[in-house]
Formats: sequence, structure tokens, C-alpha cells
Amino acid sequence: IDFIEHKQPREEYGRYGNPGEKVVERKLAALDGGEAAILYASGMAAIVGVVMAKLSAGDEVIFFDECYHRSREFCSKHMARFGVVTHQVKACDYDAMEAAITPRTRLLISESPTNPHLSVVDLERFASIGRRRGVDTLIDATLATPYNVRPIEYGVDYVLHSATKYLGGHNDLLAGVIVGAQEKLESIRKLRGIMGAINSPHNIYLLERGLKTFELRMRRQNENGQAVAEFLAGHPRVERVYYPGLPSHPYHEVARRTMRGFGGLITFLVKDADWRATAAMIDAVKIPRIGPSLGGVESLIEQPMVMSYFDYPPEERARFGIPDNMVRLSCGIENRE
Ligand code: PLP
Repeated sequence: IDFIEHKQPREEYGRYGNPGEKVVERKLAALDGGEAAILYASGMAAIVGVVMAKLSAGDEVIFFDECYHRSREFCSKHMARFGVVTHQVKACDYDAMEAAITPRTRLLISESPTNPHLSVVDLERFASIGRRRGVDTLIDATLATPYNVRPIEYGVDYVLHSATKYLGGHNDLLAGVIVGAQEKLESIRKLRGIMGAINSPHNIYLLERGLKTFELRMRRQNENGQAVAEFLAGHPRVERVYYPGLPSHPYHEVARRTMRGFGGLITFLVKDADWRATAAMIDAVKIPRIGPSLGGVESLIEQPMVMSYFDYPPEERARFGIPDNMVRLSCGIENRE
């Protein structure tokens, strides 16, 4: 009775949370400078949790089109069945985003930096559109991490991370987190208890253990990313490198203004290579293992055309900006030499 009357704090049932999870949620909220955080079983469970809690039939959501493709797919394909309308506008086209807002718009969503093009959102501009028009804003900052950027400081309402990546950091767990103001998170947390998309205590233990070295890993991965990007940019067999830390990157200035470092993820195009020659180059690489994840201590490499877009027709791949000779390299903490 004391527990039900909120006189005695204690745990109730595993689907509503566990003690270790509360500790890690406090740490993640602190890292991002937010009031509170909610952990999920994966990054996708986190985005699904927010969208399901905040949108109802007739409501609208707007994405920058370089946002993680499964997040966009969840809204455009699945929320559509429940009457939610999804709009997608070109990444970093702030005027297009503002023009797409209607009285039914409830959420503006972007990733920053985006994956695999590493476009960097001007967070101040993005957040100010939301504030001016009375619409909540969400940034998926998985690639940046709170070490490199803290979107809440720019006025963004929700920050999302796939903790599967840098926060966990060891390529051995799945988790997701949403950070924001306590009041805004309340309905999301209640729905999570019903959805059941939560972590086991052991998974939480792994995540907390990973966080102990978060700063060290990020420093090293920022250094490795910058050094390897510079190496690739000077390589005769490389056509183009996408990395926000390179002055040639179209969003270098925004990145320099808003980010402490530019992370370990690099995308590049192999010169004069078709998809098979690109795949052969990836097969020949000795240290990075082939895999679609990123942000862990071991380097991973992949070919987006094969790994994520193999069943898309070529014209659709072209529309998404995924050429056959594109390679994505997630630098780990290895000695870069
Ligand atoms: N957001 C980004 C930017 C991602 O790269 C991923 C990864 O797959 C997700 C969200 C989804 O995270 P998870 O795989 O943990 O569900």
C-alpha cells in the first residue's frame, strides 16, 4: 500500500524498469544535459516508442530525408496504417521543412550527422523552426554522441541514440535511449511499460560498463576518424570522401561550429570501381570486419549498396545517393598506423 501511495520507492515489475536501468538512465540524461532519459531494447524501439506516444490519427511528422531509413519506413509505412501522415524533405533544406508544416504537424525529425552522407544539421536553425511553429523537434544523434554534440543545448526537444553504437561501444549489445524534459517524456515512459520494449538487467550492466570508457573511446575514435579520412582523401584510388572533419565536406563549417569532434564513421567512393570491384576491395581489407553496425571498439566496414540497398532498383539507389562504389568504414580504437 505504501508503494501504491508513492510513500515507499521500490521496484514493481520487470517490464516497468529495473534498478540498474534507472542508474544508466540518469547517466545518459546527464551526458546529454537533459532532465531525464528512457532506455529501450534498441534504437528502433526508442523511435517507435516516441512516435507511438506522441502521434495520433490525422497528425503529421516531417523528416529530413537522410534520416535513418528504418525510422522513416516505420512512419511512412506503418504509422500510415493508423492515419499518421509522413512528409520527407531534402536534408538540411530548412525552408522546405518549414513549408511542409501544417496545423497537424506534431514532430520534426532529423539525424545529425546523417548516415552514410554525414550531413550535419544546423541545430539552432532546426530547433528554432520547431519553437516558432509550436512543433516538437527530435534529433537522432547516434553518430555524434553527447561527446561531440548536445542538441538539447540548441533547444531540440528530444535526443535519440542507438546505444547499440558508441554508447555501448563494444559491438555486443542492442539498446536505445531518448533524452528530454521530464514532462515531455512522461507519456512515452508510460507507453514503454505497455510496449515492453525494455532491456534485461544484464544488457543494462553491459551498457553501464561500456559507458565507463565512453570519453576515452570517443577521443580515440574522433582521432582515428580524422586521420583515416585525411589518408583516404589523399589516396589516388579514392574518388571522394564524406567526413565532416574535412574542409572539403559541404557541412564542414556547421560541423566545426557545433561539434567537438567528428566521430569515427567515414564514407568514401572507390575510384573507377563497379560494385563487384568495390566488394573485392572490402573482402581484401585485413583489420575491419564486415558488418552494418558502427561505433564499437572494433572497426567495421560495409558497402551500403550491398548491405542496406541490395533489393532496391538502381534508380531508387541513385535517388538516395547510394552509388555502387560507396564504402562505409567505422573506425574503432585500433592503432591507426
Ligand atoms: N538510428 C541510427 C542513426 C542508426 O544507425 C540505427 C542503427 O541501426 C538506429 C537508429 C537503430 O538502432 P538499433 O539498431 O539499435 O535499433
